[in-house]
Amino acid sequence: MSEQRVVVVGAGMAGVQTAVALRELGHTGEVLLLGAETHRPYDRPPLSKDVLLGKAEHSRFEVDYAGMGVELLLGRRALALDTDARSLATDAGTLRYDRLVLATGAHPIPLPGRPAGAQLLRTHDDAVALKASLRPGARIVVVGAGWIGAEAATVARQLGCEVTVLEAASVPLAGALPADIGERMRGWYAEAGAELRTGAAVGGVRESSVLLTDGTELAADAVVVGIGARPETGWLDGSGIALDERGAVAADDRLRTSAPDVFAVGDCASFPSARYATRLTVHHWDNALQGAKVAAANVLGADERYDPVPYFWSEQFGRMVQYAGHHRPGDELLWRGDPSQATGWGALWLRGDTPVALLAVDRPRDLAQGRRLIERATPLDRARAADPEVQLKAATVA
Ligand code: FAD
Repeated sequence: MSEQRVVVVGAGMAGVQTAVALRELGHTGEVLLLGAETHRPYDRPPLSKDVLLGKAEHSRFEVDYAGMGVELLLGRRALALDTDARSLATDAGTLRYDRLVLATGAHPIPLPGRPAGAQLLRTHDDAVALKASLRPGARIVVVGAGWIGAEAATVARQLGCEVTVLEAASVPLAGALPADIGERMRGWYAEAGAELRTGAAVGGVRESSVLLTDGTELAADAVVVGIGARPETGWLDGSGIALDERGAVAADDRLRTSAPDVFAVGDCASFPSARYATRLTVHHWDNALQGAKVAAANVLGADERYDPVPYFWSEQFGRMVQYAGHHRPGDELLWRGDPSQATGWGALWLRGDTPVALLAVDRPRDLAQGRRLIERATPLDRARAADPEVQLKAATVA
């Protein structure tokens, strides 16, 4: 591999970590890291937290690219891929590769018709633009009560805006969590002074208002849309790289794609999970970090399997919400603590006696312990696991 050129497409968390890992694993050949944005690579989670709040100006990664011998090609977009010729067409010429890593992330889903007044929150520029609208007293309409919507609403309230959150489903976080759990989060909005309207579908966005499909018109100084994200893979059309039914690069359990020497990692990819017996697409930070290490190792000829217990966190309405694992309909839901109390609580999903997923609200220790129990598939005693006074690691079957 010493003379091999590795090209990484996408300079977000997954791409940067892949480049760093290649060097850490001793690769001495060229590493080219291509990013469509002109900003130096940065982390996204702070965009809906400290950057939006004004506590941080940017969230750039602290990586010495030049010192590591990583050639950073910013403001350069990959346009097409020819896997037979091992060449990547970009908007500034063609690049040859020996090994290629696809790490182009995801793009936010816009409202139908992409109304001009609706702002998205994916990039540093998006966060800066939205921040300018979050003035005290400004009427902010957030479309979508998912992770991004909840965090944007949190910050907008902290900055003194009037906030209305519109959610088409009947509860917050309907796409990620069972309705029973989402229902317990409804009160968080009111408590923070934000109005949450569920069952509210947006019909259109005007210059200074939002129109609901039921005819209601809400005045809005700014509208922010957080209704999900799709893998950024359109540029691979015609390349022959296999995508899954959701448009993610269908990687295998080594993060290899359908083309020789082409790997995929992060938000743009899905992979088969033996642990959960399903193909997973994980649009969360930890997947970009952990997947990158495996992708880099396999680029260099290792044979590492990627089968993580997925993890993410969200900071909303003064709470730390963390989730590890993967649940599916039919898994038993076990409450841990009382969600109606101000103190932290959680929920466990069990298959038989084995924990497969955990939600922890303001209980980071539960998350740390639960994640290990899930990783090791350690059977739990239901009564003890439901008791928040008992540490999770002490709730195992005797
Ligand atoms: P990305 O970060 O999307 O990076 C992909 C990069 O590729 C982009 O910079 C893009 O410009 C570039 N690119 C795309 N196409 C091309 C091309 N054709 N050529 C060249 N470059 C290209 N996760 C959590 O677990 N917790 C959180 O609290 C959390 N908060 C978040 C807050 C926000 C506002 C956002 C947007 C995401 C948040 N996430 C969070 C998710 C997490 O940030 C993502 O899962 C992670 O950024 C994925 O990294 P990635 O490198 O796969 O993709």
